[in-house]
Amino acid sequence: MSQIIEPVLRLINQFSKLPGIGYKTAQRLAFHVINLSDDEVEEFAKDLFYAKKKAVFCPVCGNLMQKGEHACVICEDAARDAALVCVVSDIKDVLAIEKTREYKGIYHVLHGVISPMDGIGPDDINIAGGFSFCHNIVSFKFLLYPYQTFSERSHLSELALLVFLLQC
Ligand SMILES: [Zn+2]
Repeated sequence: MSQIIEPVLRLINQFSKLPGIGYKTAQRLAFHVINLSDDEVEEFAKDLFYAKKKAVFCPVCGNLMQKGEHACVICEDAARDAALVCVVSDIKDVLAIEKTREYKGIYHVLHGVISPMDGIGPDDINIAGGFSFCHNIVSFKFLLYPYQTFSERSHLSELALLVFLLQC
């Protein structure tokens, strides 16, 4: 029988569901939470709900935006080149590129990659969603991130890009 009481086991179980968190880390996080004051735990729980309630995907590019806004800050930025679209697999990629302060185009976030081996097809990622920019602009330049040569491209499959382009 486990030496850990059931409420803490449940907390460990929740943490271990998070990406990149193994059982030991989940255990450490759970014990950390138990050691927090009631006020700190309440604030933590409130922020979890708040983020989940307020963060939605931009209907244009798939980046995160605050609920109630028309589009994300990048799509709303008139100084951006809307004919330059960087196709990325994940929101983390947008953050990484924005950190460089070099890129002045917009994005399309796929929220995954096509992986037939894992049963992930074009319908499972954000290929069809949010193509409003396609109807307004005659020509695009597409970039792929991470910046790799065609043969090295592993994060974003060529098939995903092909389907993406065909639907534009
Ligand atoms: Zn956007």
